[in-house]
Amino acid sequence: MANDLSSMVNDNRDMVYDVERIRKDFPILSREVNGHPLVYLDTGASAQKPQVVIDAVSRAYSEEYANVHRGLHFLSNLATDKYENVRGIIRDFLGAPNDHEILFTTGTTEAINLVSYAWAARVMSAGDEILLSVLEHHANIVPWNFLRERLGVTLKWIEPDSCGELRPQRVLDAVGPRTRLIAVTHMSNVLGTQVDVGAICTGAAGLGIPVLVDGSQAAVHMPVNVREIGCDFYAVTGHKLYGPSASGALYVREERLDEMWPFKGGGDMIREVRRDGITYNVPPHKFEAGTPGIVQMIGLGAALEYLQSLGMETIARHEADIRDYALERLAELAWLKLQGNAPDRGAIFSFTIDGAGHPHDISTVVDQKGIAVRAGHHCAQPLMEHLGVTATCRASCGLYTTRDDIDRLIEALELCHELLAA
Ligand code: PLP
Repeated sequence: MANDLSSMVNDNRDMVYDVERIRKDFPILSREVNGHPLVYLDTGASAQKPQVVIDAVSRAYSEEYANVHRGLHFLSNLATDKYENVRGIIRDFLGAPNDHEILFTTGTTEAINLVSYAWAARVMSAGDEILLSVLEHHANIVPWNFLRERLGVTLKWIEPDSCGELRPQRVLDAVGPRTRLIAVTHMSNVLGTQVDVGAICTGAAGLGIPVLVDGSQAAVHMPVNVREIGCDFYAVTGHKLYGPSASGALYVREERLDEMWPFKGGGDMIREVRRDGITYNVPPHKFEAGTPGIVQMIGLGAALEYLQSLGMETIARHEADIRDYALERLAELAWLKLQGNAPDRGAIFSFTIDGAGHPHDISTVVDQKGIAVRAGHHCAQPLMEHLGVTATCRASCGLYTTRDDIDRLIEALELCHELLAA
């Protein structure tokens, strides 16, 4: 079923956010799970897809498919145009100045590995220091650990305070004479803490330190403008942005592009290959080797246009209402321990239940009621250690979450408490 963008909420500033109407854009939300209507509270892991994305992917395969940048025939030109058009969509979504500062990736994991191999390994040497926060996802830890192992750089960790807030001054105070990079999340995937990355970048710029921001969670829930933030690198992942998996983008500030080695080698990233030497293509292609995720990126373009049609400010307002409602309802459960209560936070809630055993058991019980939440360490083991737990249960909301979803979660958690902790 085709779903025309123009039929969606258009003048997003003045219109009431009609969440029930918007939910109809997501076919999967009308299905049942274990005999109950689905309540999807795992958007932090991966978001569901609106019909416009499903249609864009289907159309790309059924009517517009060929390899990109290679052929001179009609379909190859069409696919190339559709694919390259997404660069401008992402540039606008992130508020980046230029198309060539947007590198296509398969997601944040690849993006941060790219920065580690192509930039950091080139400009850093033994004894240099990378500042990381304890809030980071493993995707913003492991690529830096490679440099610790291979180059001898040092990783310096910044702790959040007791409510899970990461104060910019604490980060800036940790900068030393050998600091070469600050790598920090914009929003914790575990606690929902929103980090004032703008203040970190302003302070870091004064000290001449580049900043990489992991925007995987934040860019889904609020407007992002990399120019205003002032970062050097900003990574987003398509499947959390309501687009296909294995799509994503990395914003790289122009000056940093000039300092970067190529990343992977192969087709598209070369200008000329001779037996005795190779010259490389210009950015962004220099960093995009091989046949890319053509259809995935076209799907991501459709997802971002969909988000823009709703308006990121509007989505943020809706999710703030859900966040406040959920915090109020979760506070009614005296036996539930909610992790983190930073003043600026998104609608992501990590918790444990006194006496209820492992968070996996909680997620299994609520699943029986059709409710999808995630349990585990959420790829944030240093944060788990900081919190003194090995795992939590996490409910994460999206643009389609309703107050009714939260009520259903609360009911299921009460049942969990009765079954597991009584
Ligand atoms: N960073 C954060 C904060 C995340 O939440 C995630 C995914 O859970 C990632 C990075 C990794 O994203 P991907 O696996 O899509 O590359």
